[in-house]
Amino acid sequence: MNSGPGGDNAAAGGNAASRGVEVVHDFAQKLQQPSLWPRVVDYVRWQRALREAEAAGVQAPDLPDLAPLSINLDLTTACNYACDHCIDWDILNSKVRHEDDELRASIERMAARGLRSVILIGGGEPTLYPGFVSFVEFCKQLALQVAVVSNGSRNDRILQAAPFFTAGDWVRLSLDAGSNDVWRRMHNPSSKTLTLDEICGWIHKIKAVNPALQLGFSFVITWRGGSRGDVKIVENIHEMVAAAARAQEAGFDYISYKPFLERQADGSEVMDPAKTEQELQAVIARIQQNLEEARAAAPGGFRVLASTNLRVLMAGNWRDFTHQPKTCHMQMLRQVLTPLGTFNCPAHRGVEKAQVGGKDLWAVPAAAQHATAGILGRFDASVECREVTCLYHGTNWWVEELIKASAPLPDEAPGAERGDWFL
Ligand code: SF4
Repeated sequence: MNSGPGGDNAAAGGNAASRGVEVVHDFAQKLQQPSLWPRVVDYVRWQRALREAEAAGVQAPDLPDLAPLSINLDLTTACNYACDHCIDWDILNSKVRHEDDELRASIERMAARGLRSVILIGGGEPTLYPGFVSFVEFCKQLALQVAVVSNGSRNDRILQAAPFFTAGDWVRLSLDAGSNDVWRRMHNPSSKTLTLDEICGWIHKIKAVNPALQLGFSFVITWRGGSRGDVKIVENIHEMVAAAARAQEAGFDYISYKPFLERQADGSEVMDPAKTEQELQAVIARIQQNLEEARAAAPGGFRVLASTNLRVLMAGNWRDFTHQPKTCHMQMLRQVLTPLGTFNCPAHRGVEKAQVGGKDLWAVPAAAQHATAGILGRFDASVECREVTCLYHGTNWWVEELIKASAPLPDEAPGAERGDWFL
């Protein structure tokens, strides 16, 4: 893949698979849907006006009355597991929390300004939030698309929330194992009795309540030698095939594999930079073989997915995804709300220099716009994200090219509606 803007701009109109990008990560295509395109146009026009004003030495225009189109929302930093491979370890179980009414006011204001989707995720286990079920209902009443990433320990809450989800919504459980033993050693649940069998036993019940809700089995692939600080990672490559069989039997719609990421000293998430090329190739060969076996054994209708990070790791071109434009445009289109504050990106969750504002930033839209314009100007992604295999890499270059192009932007959306507003 070309890392420069021309290559990606040209590619943005093409087929996701041909570029090695998983369809759900083809954000440039998503942004060309009629439901999202007008906000992209507003943003690109503002960036053009901003750059013209800066070149002319005149006052910069205000950011238009926009909110991010999609957010990652950490409902809590609390977690009832102690996973060896947890990327958010340093921010877990802080005492800081959301005030539910303030959080709802923020979401309501964002929805009025263009927010279309919310991913309830962590920094923590979302189902531990005391009002989890009613919060899902609240988001659906605002006509938002809603997704949940959960550790599976409180599937009773997912079952209670199941009636509120609509087509396009999804719940993905981070399970990462094929056997009870490896699952327990990787996740260290606070419950002494919980098993992977028990977690998977909920899936048919949830599906029975709402067949439209897509249910995913997430598998972060770990290999010997990986670590989180001083903690050695339990290897699970050898359970990839068993996990796929288990997921299919349990009634999941798909299994999605992704590689383990390590958080660097500066807070960014990266793929095993310490391994030698030879070691990495041996790991990749094992992953490839297990992935092929899992695919070969999968019956029709059940999907075996490789995340974009995994595809680029196997293709050997992951470094291409570390070349970002100076301005990360995704900071406007997608943000991360946590009890610790509002951040510009999931890859920099909890990191001070990536903080856009406080946890209630969007309760006061004018201040939020001002803060967003500020971070767009000061956060140099070409430097701060140079070690990150960024899933938004192609999209950022595509937006950058739209800004630099002189042609007027069409009001009519270039793409068809896909009903997928998650960024
Ligand atoms: S360039 Fe990528 S990694 Fe960096 S802030 Fe933007 S989206 Fe996140």
